[in-house]
Amino acid sequence: MEFCPKCKVLMLPKGDIFICNTCGAKKKKSGSSVVVEKQKKKETVVLEKRIDILPKTRIECPKCGNNEAFWILRQTRASDEPETKIFTCTKCDHRWRQY
Ligand SMILES: [Zn+2]
Ligand SMILES: [Zn+2]
Repeated sequence: MEFCPKCKVLMLPKGDIFICNTCGAKKKKSGSSVVVEKQKKKETVVLEKRIDILPKTRIECPKCGNNEAFWILRQTRASDEPETKIFTCTKCDHRWRQY
């Protein structure tokens, strides 16, 4: 959308220019006016933020031998792949995964 600098009315697009219907002023379309936002949302680390509401399960930590760990399901992008269970030891924070 372009407005005539003289009459402040909306100019009509015609080819690669804008034309003012009131005074006949012409203005080139600026290609940079359309800015596409490409910023991706930052991936939030679910494991760290929700550690206190994660379900626990009885499983032996391979690192410290503790018998309890939080677990979370991480879905892989490919639908034919099984979900990955990621465990976090409640004692030493060691993380490991199970397929
Ligand atoms: Zn005008
Ligand atoms: Zn552990």
